[in-house]
Amino acid sequence: MSSKPADTVNVPAMLVDSKKNVLYERLRFFGKGGYAVCFKIKDTKTDKIFAGKIVSKSLLIKEHNQREKLTQEMMIHQTLDHKNIVKFLSFFEDAINIYIVLELCENRSMMELHQRRRVITDYECRFYMYQILEGVKYLHENNIIHRDLKLGNLFLNDQLNVKIGDFGLATRIEFDGERKKTLCGTPNYVAPEVLTEIGHSFEADIWSIGCVMYALLVGRPPFETKTLRETYRKIKMCDYKMPKIVCPSATEMIIAMLQSNPQKRPCANKLLHFDFIKGHHIPSFLPSSCLTMAPRSH
Ligand code: ADP
Repeated sequence: MSSKPADTVNVPAMLVDSKKNVLYERLRFFGKGGYAVCFKIKDTKTDKIFAGKIVSKSLLIKEHNQREKLTQEMMIHQTLDHKNIVKFLSFFEDAINIYIVLELCENRSMMELHQRRRVITDYECRFYMYQILEGVKYLHENNIIHRDLKLGNLFLNDQLNVKIGDFGLATRIEFDGERKKTLCGTPNYVAPEVLTEIGHSFEADIWSIGCVMYALLVGRPPFETKTLRETYRKIKMCDYKMPKIVCPSATEMIIAMLQSNPQKRPCANKLLHFDFIKGHHIPSFLPSSCLTMAPRSH
């Protein structure tokens, strides 16, 4: 994106949802994305804390198609209700901005976790993968393809529970067997069938989760190279190496997800039954010390 959102968005100290008669106090700055800025906000009546994602209307006018994309994103996100999906509470607007009220994820995303920790333990990876798969299973059962699953869109709450967010590239499958041909924007962990534009569906998300799991256990994404062109060539050839440090049951799962033929990739529900996940105790939370160091005895 060309403009810097933090400079262009003019965010008032109080956010007023005049239709619902709710007043939010703007608290600390949380981060900025391609076209949104995010603040911690507080409902002044209930004292409840949320994330306020704010998009400047002038930016929407400047950027081609951006308003339609934001509307599509909100329409999809609004319908979703699952413990591993960032909850969409409401949205409103004033003359300058559009405000989206979301469940707050205090511990940022798995991108920051990855930058600090690089390689995480099997115990932690199982915990995260279980939650990612539960969230994706819910999305696919509701005919939604996320299409941009990556570490930066996997948000973490205070208990390090995963909340899938950013539905900017998501789409709805309208009829059985529908294949989407085009995608606006470049997903990070793009599947080969998306690149070649032969038609893609739910399996493109499974490929992306394969890339996420690989990055968590190896410390870098599977198709990373110096140039985009070379990365795309490797993706199309499914050319990646599985280091020996990855245990056999995790290797089996990654290999299953990173297959060129989308039909051969297991669905989210099947993946939940793979040996790496099934039959293991999965904790309901991780301590926040896991953001910076491996848990003891795991
Ligand atoms: P964009 O759609 O412009 O890419 P993002 O959805 O990535 O915007 O949000 C911008 C930034 O705001 C993120 O990088 C993250 O730091 C923060 N953010 C977004 N949603 C939340 C949330 N629910 N809780 C906490 N922080 C969030």
